[in-house]
Amino acid sequence: MSVFDTGVRYIKGVGEGRAKLMEKLGVRTLGELVRYFPRAYEDRTVFKRVQELMPGDTVCVRAAVTQPELYHVRRGLDTIRLSAADDTGILRIVFFNQTFIRDRMAPGETYIFYGKVTGTARRPEMQNPVFEPESESGRGMHTGAIVPVYALTAGISQKIMSNAVRQGLLLCGDKLPDPLPPSVRERHCLAQARFSYNNIHFPSDLDALELARKRLIFEELFILAAAMKIMRGRRSAKAGRVLHAEGCEEFFAALPFELTGAQKRAIHEAARDMASGVAMNRLIQGDVGSGKTAVAAACCYLAWKSGCQSALMAPTELLAEQHYSSLAAMFEPLGMRAGLLTGGMTAKKRRDALSKIALGEIDVAIGTHALISDSVTFLDLALVITDEQHRFGVRQRSELTAKGECAHVLVMSATPIPRTLALMIYGDLDVSVIDELPPGRQRVETFAVGEKYRTRVYEFTRALTGRGRQAYVVCPAVEDSEDEVPGLVSAVEYSEKLAAEVFPDRRVALVHGRMKTKEKDAVMKAFRAGEIDILVATTVIEVGVDVPNAVLMIVENADRFGLSQLHQLRGRVGRGEHKSYCILFEGAGGAAARERLDVLCRHGDGFEVAKRDLALRGPGDFFGSRQHGLPELKIASLLSDMDILTTAQDAARETLEDDPELRKPENAALSASIHEMLNQAAAGGGGLS
Ligand code: ADP
Ligand code: MG
Repeated sequence: MSVFDTGVRYIKGVGEGRAKLMEKLGVRTLGELVRYFPRAYEDRTVFKRVQELMPGDTVCVRAAVTQPELYHVRRGLDTIRLSAADDTGILRIVFFNQTFIRDRMAPGETYIFYGKVTGTARRPEMQNPVFEPESESGRGMHTGAIVPVYALTAGISQKIMSNAVRQGLLLCGDKLPDPLPPSVRERHCLAQARFSYNNIHFPSDLDALELARKRLIFEELFILAAAMKIMRGRRSAKAGRVLHAEGCEEFFAALPFELTGAQKRAIHEAARDMASGVAMNRLIQGDVGSGKTAVAAACCYLAWKSGCQSALMAPTELLAEQHYSSLAAMFEPLGMRAGLLTGGMTAKKRRDALSKIALGEIDVAIGTHALISDSVTFLDLALVITDEQHRFGVRQRSELTAKGECAHVLVMSATPIPRTLALMIYGDLDVSVIDELPPGRQRVETFAVGEKYRTRVYEFTRALTGRGRQAYVVCPAVEDSEDEVPGLVSAVEYSEKLAAEVFPDRRVALVHGRMKTKEKDAVMKAFRAGEIDILVATTVIEVGVDVPNAVLMIVENADRFGLSQLHQLRGRVGRGEHKSYCILFEGAGGAAARERLDVLCRHGDGFEVAKRDLALRGPGDFFGSRQHGLPELKIASLLSDMDILTTAQDAARETLEDDPELRKPENAALSASIHEMLNQAAAGGGGLS
């Protein structure tokens, strides 16, 4: 056990209680503590003399203090007031409700104060400034330094955190983690580990901070790139069924529409994989409505031509049924037999489907995760397709794959991201991008609005539904009690209100994730059949639902959703011939929410939306759960550090070419870090496993 594995509770000033709190931040050990990087910095190195102070300045002032006076303003409000003077003037200092400060300050002594200047230029004031005795300033603690700002949790202040980190660094001594082989570090002119850790937390100046950042970002991306490379190497050994690639044209000709160039390209890439003898592991990325299903269908067709079965797994019954009805229609004229298998089927139908799958009387089995269950056996499964892959873990995918022999895997993702990123993030997958929409798609007009537009939005809804069109209203929560956030609209209460008060003359229904599958399906079927005008829903309708007559998507509390998620929701409309609209109520999010939502108003392209979403939120939040398979990056940003990423990838390749098994002593620490990363990703169910 190394010093990094020591629990943080042993650090002076931390103890059991705070160690528990720090655990919430993912900090349990010394190693995790020193790698808990600041989220920002405050530059507290700028000093001004009192005379130079302007209201609005945030600066340090060196001044001698008078006796602090305590004023009891009213119950619950005590202030401490004092004057701090240098030889140019007097700065008034006020502390609210911090009476203990009286004992911390010795009249006549000189202190450094850091804070925002209020008052006027002639009568400057600071409220609740940070301060420390002159003799202690500049040691990187509170004043006269660039000070780290950490992400915190209740009960852990900046001060507690930075003190803990400082001690953690001391305790680690010379044994700081250093997975960069020295030769790589030297070739790329990167700082030493010790220097980097010290300066990333407590920079001696901005240049040192930059050097530290660069080294740590490089290190992180270097390990990531090396891990990806090792993983790709591992899987290329897996054999795949040889499926003949001829016949694509035949399939294209049988379709009711002309495929886009991007669809054809994706199909050819998959066909080449499946003919290669190595198991395909391909991700199809495309915006909502880009026609991923047709690509999947073409692959099923090729499997069928080679006499094999395919399975297509969708995350919801609704989506499975939808796929089944559209694919069955497509396959039938070709002589292919599609079958449906979901958990909600009657026992008889289910038995029938199971036997047909087992006997090979079904060529393409379409279903939910019911396809994974033990009772399902295929006669000869050669291709596994999962739709909307972010809903499935890698494990579910491989469970289905295991039902075939050397089966190929095709994954369809609804969250489009730039190709370079996709390659990085879905490390175990090859990527095809469908970057072209079928012709004739119209843009969904999108508006972000505040409360004052509510009446107009309702009138608009009334007008559209009066013309026979349909609308979705999406709420972030199912029930009122669910979230403490005031003003949060819940689906249950809201649908009641809309039905009773706002649209008594329209057919309003509700669908949410806690309903039984049967109930949900019944509502969705009714909506699809046009028996419902306004459907109030939670994000259960996010994926794949296809109702061309729905032309209006209203999202309540849109500030509570990620941009990519909103883009998916918006993709539920604009699927037919009618002009479609998306209206986002900005909720309590304020100006920041407005700015974010504006991205959607301006961009109809899902790739563009995803890129901006990623930039705004960072990869961890962006992908939500860890299912994307990307280990959490602590310091690098996959968007803004692209140039370092490229260098790091090159360096990783060179290192692995030189020492493929990483057996050289200089690569030992790297090897350990890579395994840690792979294990961590595997534990998260990620694609790295
Ligand atoms: P997604 O990529 O979101 O899964 P789908 O595969 O559901 O998109 O396709 C959306 C709609 O577009 C479907 O109704 C499908 O029949 C239609 N479609 C797919 N490809 C084309 C094309 N090349 N030309 C015209 N319509 C197409
Ligand atoms: Mg789809």
